[in-house]
Amino acid sequence: MDIPQERRIVTEIPGPRSRALLERRLQAVPRGVFYTTPIFADATSGAIIRDVDGNSLIDLGAGLAVLNTGNSAPGVTEAVRAQLDRFTHTCMHVTMNEPYLELAERLNELVPGEEPKRTMFTNSGAEAVENAVKISRYFTKRPGVVVFDHAFHGRTLLAMTMTAKVVPYKQSLGPFIPEVYRLPYAYPYRCPTGGHTPEECAESCIRYAIDQMDKQIGPDNIACLVVEPILGEGGFVVPAPGFLPRLAEYCRDHGIMFVADEVQTGIGRTGRWFGIEHEGVAPDIVTTAKSLAGGLPLGGVTGRAEVMESVHVGGVGGTFGGNPLACAAGLAVLDAIERDGLLERAERIGSLLTRRLREMAERFELIGEVRGRGAMVAMELVEDRQTKAPANHAASRLIEECYAQGVIILKAGTYDNVIRFLPPLTIQEELLGEGLDVVEKAIVAVEADAAR
Ligand SMILES: *Cc1c(COP(=O)(O)O)cnc(C)c1O
Repeated sequence: MDIPQERRIVTEIPGPRSRALLERRLQAVPRGVFYTTPIFADATSGAIIRDVDGNSLIDLGAGLAVLNTGNSAPGVTEAVRAQLDRFTHTCMHVTMNEPYLELAERLNELVPGEEPKRTMFTNSGAEAVENAVKISRYFTKRPGVVVFDHAFHGRTLLAMTMTAKVVPYKQSLGPFIPEVYRLPYAYPYRCPTGGHTPEECAESCIRYAIDQMDKQIGPDNIACLVVEPILGEGGFVVPAPGFLPRLAEYCRDHGIMFVADEVQTGIGRTGRWFGIEHEGVAPDIVTTAKSLAGGLPLGGVTGRAEVMESVHVGGVGGTFGGNPLACAAGLAVLDAIERDGLLERAERIGSLLTRRLREMAERFELIGEVRGRGAMVAMELVEDRQTKAPANHAASRLIEECYAQGVIILKAGTYDNVIRFLPPLTIQEELLGEGLDVVEKAIVAVEADAAR
């Protein structure tokens, strides 16, 4: 649907229709299925979400990093419609289909690394992560899985175990899977090993991590190290320089599979196809999902052929994995990124975002740090720049203030105090600017509240 790319507020937000639907929702859907805005969508296009009350909101969340190519991207919609007329499902394990094959070929070319690759598909990011671990264990014949502080890998049992944060993801949901070990992530703003500069942080985290793997886990027991090239749910933390390359080197030296979880960072978000490209590392396995199929549910596991081929026939798969509608959408997403130069757009959007947020940081004490890569940008809010006490209430207030004014933004971070920006890479610059004007006014309102 073609909706004008403009913010337009015609009722209070949430309006009466959204409020009525929310009432029904509370009676029909368990509260565990959380929501961040109390708004129901009517139709979406580009960077605009029109709600059921007729308000047009600027989308700076992209449906949780899923719509890099935009809401209801025309190419994607057409590809799905064309596939819909042919067939919706065959099951790759029964009668095979070409969209699955073609998307696998495309990803095999795009994922970094010189060696031949293979790709299998799943229904979600969590399921992609689970399969990456299964395959790593099979290939190495080792049980151990190394993950990091602040990690988010999904909500299924293994993925939840690998996820760091207890509330809300793990509280009362155990017991968890054994043989999952957690190490510090080189988070320069809050360096867990006390480094005062990013370089010191990388160095001290690496030293600690390697010592743990050498002396407590034992490299011969480790199947894989699974890491986000930039922490997603964990707060858009760009790791200190050198941290990931050194970990990758350790993995190479010890036959440990280096798995880059690119579910949030991948498919153009950071200005490269994959976030790990900024680190000059070629992973053994890459997981994708979120923006891979422009809103259709699809996850991917792409890895070195030798590793991926190790599993026996029938050892991996699933009824719906690589659904043909989703794969057709995925092909259209990759085409759109190439055709519309969206990697360059991600860089451009990222620099606009970063510049505006840095200007705001000069005016507002609340902003402790602005960081990111490409169009994956965030600001971490603090009550005090000295103590860095997380301003989590201010972050929640900011989100409310913004959606009330027609702009959707999202939170992140272990301390719930990071505002992340994930605009569709197709967003018009004026619209992004207007969205950020709203954010700026909202910060003024939130600071005024806090001063009261
Ligand atoms: C969202 C996310 C997942 C989980 O994906 P789902 O599709 O929600 O299962 C895994 N890893 C990362 C890095 C993510 O951001």
